[in-house]
Amino acid sequence: MASIYYEKDTSLQPLRDVTVAVIGYGSQGRAHALNLRDSGIDVVVGLRRDSASWQTAEADGLAVDTVAGATQRGQVVMILVPDPAQPAVFAEGVEPHLEVGDLLLFAHGFNIHFGGLACPPGIDVGLVAPKAPGHRVREVFVAGQGTPGLIAVAQDATGSAHGRILSYAHAIGCTRAGVIETTFAEETETDLFGEQVVLCGGVTALVRGGFETLVEAGYQPEVAYFECLHELKLIVDLMYRGGLKAMWHSVSDTAEHGGYEGGDRLVTAETREEMRHILADIQAGRYAERWVAEYAAGSKELLRRRDEESRHPIESVGATLRSMISFLGKASRVDEQTVSSVGSAR
Ligand code: NAD
Ligand code: MG
Repeated sequence: MASIYYEKDTSLQPLRDVTVAVIGYGSQGRAHALNLRDSGIDVVVGLRRDSASWQTAEADGLAVDTVAGATQRGQVVMILVPDPAQPAVFAEGVEPHLEVGDLLLFAHGFNIHFGGLACPPGIDVGLVAPKAPGHRVREVFVAGQGTPGLIAVAQDATGSAHGRILSYAHAIGCTRAGVIETTFAEETETDLFGEQVVLCGGVTALVRGGFETLVEAGYQPEVAYFECLHELKLIVDLMYRGGLKAMWHSVSDTAEHGGYEGGDRLVTAETREEMRHILADIQAGRYAERWVAEYAAGSKELLRRRDEESRHPIESVGATLRSMISFLGKASRVDEQTVSSVGSAR
């Protein structure tokens, strides 16, 4: 049985008299920095001098400094630059300025687990990984709720690492939903598997494949869009609230009967075998090697694919239909903002 922590299990006390340096102001960085600030914690954002985010962070009312300057000012340092950029940012701006007793944090275990960077002795090293994209981490916090999160301790030099890490998770709102104790290995491997197989890779491939099959067969793209993409949210909302069972309960018996049959035909023994191959690639570090090499070569393949995906007919059909849905106005503006803020590969 997993150890799960809630608000009653922690407090902001360990962060009261410290400054938290948040390195990077992208998807997670902005959410962490603003949530910490609203929890009454002293925050400084660390960025490159030429970073476009510098002005954004200042306009949000935050103190901003260079990566080195912020690390010097902070006793807690959260690294929120893209995973493949972290080793260089750490070596140049963070490591030389860490002091004995500091707490170094990550939101994904990638570099600690795969050896991209090594932490010096004398400091605490931990993980606080919210299980949501950054804009949701902020949005639900503002609404008085929280994002579930994972925490882990990689190094406990002070003897109080666990309490400090949990306090950080509390300050960004995670204990409102539940914080699960894990290890860097488990978080890293399950996070990569989840995004590749189910959340990002699996779902988009299924949506696109379904849409293309209907359009190829001569059905209207608008109908295919509603069927294969729009309705997904309604289905996921049911699963989110009450598990798969609640979804099966809410749909018609016809949908349930056909759903069991279709699901079994799609996710076959062969599909499961491929899932195990993907997991093996992740566990052996082969996936991490590919991504780090791709990033080092300028993310050319990622950018090519991003461009190709953005020109898929499902995007133009969707943009038109969404602009006509009265209640989507605000939500789609949030999406556009998020897309542009994380719109480049580095
Ligand atoms: P991001 O791409 O949104 O933001 C990166 C930020 O770092 C930007 O401000 C960018 O300007 C800055 N940056 C980029 N390269 C830099 C460099 N070389 N030097 C200094 N600054 C640089 O990143 P993100 O998606 O927020 O990811 C940050 C961390 O959070 C990663 O470890 C990621 O795995 C983890 N995480 C992300 C999500 C998510 O939903 N995005 C969820 C959980 C955990
Ligand atoms: Mg410091």
